[in-house]
Amino acid sequence: MPAQRGFAGRISSEILHHIAMVVNARPRDLGIQGSRWSLARLRQYLVRAGVVPACSVESLRVALKRAGLAVASPRIGQIQKGVATMIPGAFEYHAPSTIGEATALLARLGDDAKVLSGGQSLIPMMKLRLATPKHLVDINGLPGLAYVREDGGALRIGGLTREADLEESDVVQRRYPLIADTCRAIADPLVRNLATVGGNLAHGDPANDHPAAMLALGAEVVAVGSGGERKIPIDSFFTGPFTTALRPDEIVVEVRVPAPKPGSGGAYVKMERKVGDFATAAVAVQISLGAGSVCERAGIGLTNVGSVPIKATKAEAALVGKRPDEGAIKQAAQLAAEAAQPQEDLRGSVEYKKDLVRVLTVRALRKALERAQKGG
Ligand SMILES: Cc1cc2nc3c(=O)[nH]c(=O)nc-3n(C[C@H](O)[C@H](O)[C@H](O)COP(=O)(O)OP(=O)(O)OC[C@H]3O[C@@H](n4cnc5c(N)ncnc54)[C@H](O)[C@@H]3O)c2cc1C
Repeated sequence: MPAQRGFAGRISSEILHHIAMVVNARPRDLGIQGSRWSLARLRQYLVRAGVVPACSVESLRVALKRAGLAVASPRIGQIQKGVATMIPGAFEYHAPSTIGEATALLARLGDDAKVLSGGQSLIPMMKLRLATPKHLVDINGLPGLAYVREDGGALRIGGLTREADLEESDVVQRRYPLIADTCRAIADPLVRNLATVGGNLAHGDPANDHPAAMLALGAEVVAVGSGGERKIPIDSFFTGPFTTALRPDEIVVEVRVPAPKPGSGGAYVKMERKVGDFATAAVAVQISLGAGSVCERAGIGLTNVGSVPIKATKAEAALVGKRPDEGAIKQAAQLAAEAAQPQEDLRGSVEYKKDLVRVLTVRALRKALERAQKGG
């Protein structure tokens, strides 16, 4: 990241994002002595990494304070881990009890409002002041939106289903190994107890794990707004960084995943710096084999290697109509790496991430095939 001029004036949201990532890691993991962050250590790191220009500890403290980041004790200069030191802007809280009430509220409040479900992404964003909604519409009280069941040729996952419930679902464990792998790779059990599947997709974060998995599976998002219900194919759901095809008054009420044909298998393989972290890169694969073990359908989704979750369509096409032997797997993996558009950051260089996608695609394809050959 280039050094910022005029640092004494304002800290941009991009730098705040960067600082949030930095203080979530241990100083010594980033080459700074010590086990806890202090302002002096943070300044040392940020200046060395070129995130901010050379500055005094005091000017960093003032700039952080101005950006809404309250440092616990300026004298000692200790910064607590993560975003716990930050306070969100003021907002009005609404707790509707029916979908109709919720969508009417959202339609009336427009862009000033945000849906609140598990709060595992929204609340940290608000604490960082990357989101400053004037109204929160809490949908946790809406009945009938948390379920996992197979029905009408599809797996139906209610929008308010918690990750922990999806992970423990019997049908998911038996028939949807890609989803089971994905749930286990998300954050940690504390986050998974609250975070919802609807929220994971609606947040539109290319670093989230469900988007790539749902792209590989060919899922459909069911949204309800003040104008009624509509189904959005997952391929057209993610429209930009942290942006989706949802309208401001729409709520994700269900995610539908086509039931797997016999001879199908899937896998999600994620590389993370430490348990619970977002992916450096991850690959989701869902494959269906027909007569003679020829690949009838292949879905490949990539996590955190672009501004949106990526569907590796050329890699998918390279597999269809072939027996996925080692040669075909390596060719598809190369095409998946070419589809990746990563940015260099604390997790690695562009070259490293592209090569990681290649390696993870090989692993995910081999695992998915093994499962498909065993019957799914
Ligand atoms: C420490 C930590 C680690 C994490 N690690 C991972 C990880 O490894 N992998 C991963 O995928 N995620 C990770 N996350 C992010 C988080 O798990 C997901 O983004 C989460 O699933 C979001 O769901 P939520 O219910 O908490 O959404 P919220 O935070 O409540 O909302 C997120 C966004 O989606 C909107 N929204 C929520 N629900 C709906 C709905 N039903 N309809 C319409 N809009 C809606 C909100 O308005 C908001 O914009 C991590 C989070 C934390 C705090």
